[in-house]
Amino acid sequence: MIEITNLHKRFGKVQVLEGISLEIKGGGIFAILGPNGSGKTTLIKSILGMVIPQSGTILIENKPIKDQWEYRNNLNYLPQIAQFPENLTVEELIGMIKNLRGQTANDKELIELFGLAPFMDKKLGNLSGGTKQKVNLVLAFMFNCPLIILDEPTTGLDPVSLINLKGLINKEKEAGKTILITTHIMDFVDTMADEIVFLLEGKIYFKGTVAELKKKSTQNDLEHAIATILTEKNV
Ligand code: ADP
Repeated sequence: MIEITNLHKRFGKVQVLEGISLEIKGGGIFAILGPNGSGKTTLIKSILGMVIPQSGTILIENKPIKDQWEYRNNLNYLPQIAQFPENLTVEELIGMIKNLRGQTANDKELIELFGLAPFMDKKLGNLSGGTKQKVNLVLAFMFNCPLIILDEPTTGLDPVSLINLKGLINKEKEAGKTILITTHIMDFVDTMADEIVFLLEGKIYFKGTVAELKKKSTQNDLEHAIATILTEKNV
């Protein structure tokens, strides 16, 4: 589904991605992990065409994405920080995105799932962080696309919403979708991810299953496995 070859990205003097090569096969939940500043968002934004790498190629469904924007119609994206227009209501925003996208949407189902009905006529600027994140999730899941990219989807969610989100992601996986996630919640990765890639200092430190990472670090739980890696590497 996604094939990344020798990707380099530098912001000024800061080399963020240093020769990333990665194949993400279609179907399943793929987690991108790494300490703060390791380049997770930069990698995701490169896949979205929002960051232009200095060198390297990205293919989606065997087609290079460079200067090609059509592929974006076939993916859903949840940004890490949703900057909504403050004066629009939730209903207006969802309606606007549906109009722009022009695809059928299952927004009603998602509004119900996340209990957003009482907030539909509220201005986005007046919502709490958690409620904004639920709106963000509705926008990210309402179109039927083969690729779903979620940058820190758990931010600010209460336990019930977290369970709903897990259910939603699993449902999409069962429908054969590819879900790319970055998160700091290790329990989420431990229970959900089919495969993980661990970024460190601009390179891929590890790619494989959660069980394989635990084995590599000789730790039984993921949090300790990652802490061991970071301590050994002095990050
Ligand atoms: P992560 O998502 O793993 O926390 P990021 O990809 O957001 O990491 O950032 C990696 C590094 O790139 C950081 O040092 C960050 O400051 C830098 N960076 C990211 N975006 C920009 C940008 N637009 N301009 C300058 N530096 C940036």
